[in-house]
Amino acid sequence: MTDWLLLLILLLLAIAVGWYLGRRERKRSHYYEMGLRHLLNDEPDQAVATLVTELDFEKDSIDTHLALGGLLRRRGELEKAVFVHENVLGRARLDQATRHMVEIELARDYLQAGLLDRAEAMSMRLAAENPEYRSESLKVALQVYEQERDWHKAKEIAQQVSGGIEEAGIEQAISHYCCELAELAIAEKNSVDAKAHLTEAIGHDANNSRVSLLQGQLAINENDPESAVRHLERILVQDPIYVSESLLPLRTAYEALENMAGFRGYLEKCLDRSPSIAVVLALGKVISDQEGADALARFIGNQMQANPSLRGFIELIDVNLIDAEGRIAQDLMLLKQFAEAMISDSAAYRCGECGFEGKRMRWHCPSCRHWASIKPMLGQEGD
Ligand SMILES: [Zn+2]
Repeated sequence: MTDWLLLLILLLLAIAVGWYLGRRERKRSHYYEMGLRHLLNDEPDQAVATLVTELDFEKDSIDTHLALGGLLRRRGELEKAVFVHENVLGRARLDQATRHMVEIELARDYLQAGLLDRAEAMSMRLAAENPEYRSESLKVALQVYEQERDWHKAKEIAQQVSGGIEEAGIEQAISHYCCELAELAIAEKNSVDAKAHLTEAIGHDANNSRVSLLQGQLAINENDPESAVRHLERILVQDPIYVSESLLPLRTAYEALENMAGFRGYLEKCLDRSPSIAVVLALGKVISDQEGADALARFIGNQMQANPSLRGFIELIDVNLIDAEGRIAQDLMLLKQFAEAMISDSAAYRCGECGFEGKRMRWHCPSCRHWASIKPMLGQEGD
């Protein structure tokens, strides 16, 4: 073959390859464009179908698939997110690093979709296979065990998560896992185990007010009101916002000690620190028992001027109802019903992390999954 013929063949081949690659590129851009258009038109079904079934799995398109899957998960389109990620794993030939990148996303999809067994299996395997994803995978597994309320396993896994900047959050979570176990032990009247769990909880977070609450409850169950007072009053130093949660057992303890003066002194100290209506009402009850209805009316009236609240307002109506008769009593009753209806519609607790609101105290936010982020609301509506 002469040189010029060889050159001509090579030239034709180059043109053919260029044409083929160009055509393929145009086809890919067309599908990208179509997929994007579907996404922008809020047509996720069509977007998934176009992007997932028509695109070849190459390095850059896998990034597109991961972005699409993540987007779908954030939008709550979990079935489609799972489909996208499973499709990549099933159809593409991936190196190990890329496969792990897809698997951690799929484990998160499973978790969010409530497919806990699959999320657990995938995250635990990934944690064992790839040190780079170990921490992230264990966090997925941790959420699985939290949702299953398997506190022993949650504790075991949390202790393996490398802390870093989240160290304090993980320690706090472990402390609450121990509290959950303590609550179960208290319910089973196993105070030995409950105390052991609470001691461990302190080791992970010395300022956990929940531990003090549970220790107080345990001491009352064991007819040890003196210890109960010591544990429950520690909350004022740990986190005054939770004092309202301790007032009922604390009153029980002081009653057992026949020391209502001591209870009154403590409540006055609390009131100096935090304008909680729960404290005002508890103190009002002690004042009423000790000095009568007039003293209570003066006390509540003064407190309402400084920090108005609906619950205080209802208390004030109750005090005035004692001596009211006829039309005035009827009007006061009407006012009370109105105020109670307003309270029944409003939340008493709010999560400082995500804004979730509820009527009862929870230590674990059901929305953002933070521990001890839900606190009693100090204000007109809830408190
Ligand atoms: Zn939250």
